[in-house]
Amino acid sequence: MIKLFTHENRMIVYNMNNLLQGEGIETVMKNEFSGGGVGDLPAFDIWPEIWIRDAAQLARAQSILHGVTEVTEGESWICRGCQESNDAAFGICWNCGRSYD
Ligand SMILES: [Zn+2]
Repeated sequence: MIKLFTHENRMIVYNMNNLLQGEGIETVMKNEFSGGGVGDLPAFDIWPEIWIRDAAQLARAQSILHGVTEVTEGESWICRGCQESNDAAFGICWNCGRSYD
């Protein structure tokens, strides 16, 4: 398996994972439930990760990710669906999954 994506914000990782699966990419999430603390590591050191099961799908998965993350540089944006503020690097709302438009 190949690690594709990780982010400290769990909702972003979830939404990204949903998006990839919706595109037919076989993904596996790791560190999905890190809130309770694992071993001696503080929880904030453990970010949820998306892994690609099939290396043949990696290029496609990366292009999907790229499409989502290339939207803008600089200003954060407000989601039209839920009014949450989103980081400029993300093309989908971390809260509700709506795309930037
Ligand atoms: Zn939203």
